[in-house]
Amino acid sequence: MQQTRNLLLLAALASGSSLIAPAAAGGGSRADAGPDPLCLWDATAPLRPRARTSCPLPVDDASPTHIREGAVLTPLRCIRRQRNSNSNSNSRSGDGESKCIYSAPTFRGGGFSIATGAQTAANLLGMGGLDDLIAPATSPHLFSTGPTEDVVGGGPAYEVQDIPGKGKGVIASRTIRRREVFMVDYPLLMVEGALIEGMDLAGRRGVLQGLVAGLGDEGRGRMLALARSGGEDEAMDLFVTNGCGVEVWGRMHTGVFPEVARMNHDCRPNAYFRFSPSTLTMEVLAYRDIQPGEEININYAYVGMPSKERQKFLRDTWSFNCTCPLCTSPPSVIAASDARRHDIARKRIALRKARKEGRHDDALGAAEGVLALLEEEEGLEALGPGFWGLLARELVELGRTEEALAWARRALEGGRAFRGEDSGAVAEAEDLVRAVEREERRMKGETTAK
Ligand SMILES: [Zn+2]
Repeated sequence: MQQTRNLLLLAALASGSSLIAPAAAGGGSRADAGPDPLCLWDATAPLRPRARTSCPLPVDDASPTHIREGAVLTPLRCIRRQRNSNSNSNSRSGDGESKCIYSAPTFRGGGFSIATGAQTAANLLGMGGLDDLIAPATSPHLFSTGPTEDVVGGGPAYEVQDIPGKGKGVIASRTIRRREVFMVDYPLLMVEGALIEGMDLAGRRGVLQGLVAGLGDEGRGRMLALARSGGEDEAMDLFVTNGCGVEVWGRMHTGVFPEVARMNHDCRPNAYFRFSPSTLTMEVLAYRDIQPGEEININYAYVGMPSKERQKFLRDTWSFNCTCPLCTSPPSVIAASDARRHDIARKRIALRKARKEGRHDDALGAAEGVLALLEEEEGLEALGPGFWGLLARELVELGRTEEALAWARRALEGGRAFRGEDSGAVAEAEDLVRAVEREERRMKGETTAK
């Protein structure tokens, strides 16, 4: 009965790490992947897209817009955060920046509200995130939430069904192939983590109520139909129960994706999600082939948490006891999984320390160790690409550029597969490939000169 919360939350509203993505495993920053952060605009006027690539930012509330009626983010209410000397000075929350609740009530049928910084709102519009002009006639499923059709027939990928003891869940209705995008979803709400971090309960409640109010009738109906965990405040409960961590132009946000929220948790999931900030689209993909009748699960917990910690986290956050195949395995199987997860955590720390101290051989060894463990422990593949990138960096330091280039290219492919074409991971991996190629050319040049 407790396991009715088919939900995920970026429990890390405070920590800024995502459910599946490795926290900055690549070591770089995403801040420079979006439009120039130095461009300024007026966040208090309705933001309208104008051009895509120019600076000042593509936002101008005076020009006629070619975006269809409603695809405009209107600020409902702005909250300027006080600069707080106690706040984490490393956080890129943009203290002092205007943070507003913006709404696009007719977005893709259900509407969309976001509480975020003015920069992020402008980036969303400027990059076309709310632009629905791409003709649905050519891609009929482009803006419809739900299962994808099989290109070779076979019908929709899954059905949302009642599952005894778990509330609702997602069941495959045909064979889903490894790495297939079988679910597409769009957010109803989003909140920048840094905005509500440190806010008191009343403040959070106010923001969430404002977001729900900014949705269209259909979106509000879909939001209210989602599962709850029994919290007193409805908007707050729905958000905490159904929220999902995503990165939007370098900033962590928690979004409510109503279809994704129907998927239950498994500590060794058969599916993972990736989010595209430039199209505001969530895609869910299969880790492996999934057979008709199988339940499709994602991971709500932090990757790498050992069983006791994981169980506590799931219980504290969603009030359910995990009964997934891993958690109900014989103690020896659980112990082996825990040992691998502990080992991954230890090696990650060793890797970070070795990199910091410039011990490249040790760093390389630690990265290789993590990768070997990731291959053994099911459901952690999404962590791979970040470590492939790290491996490439260490190999460059050791002068092994040819191998480095192969790993950098692999990191790029992995970034595309696990995080999406417009993710920070891909931007970072592209930079890395270019840097390694330059280094290789430089070394070849030196060799020729000798
Ligand atoms: Zn479990």
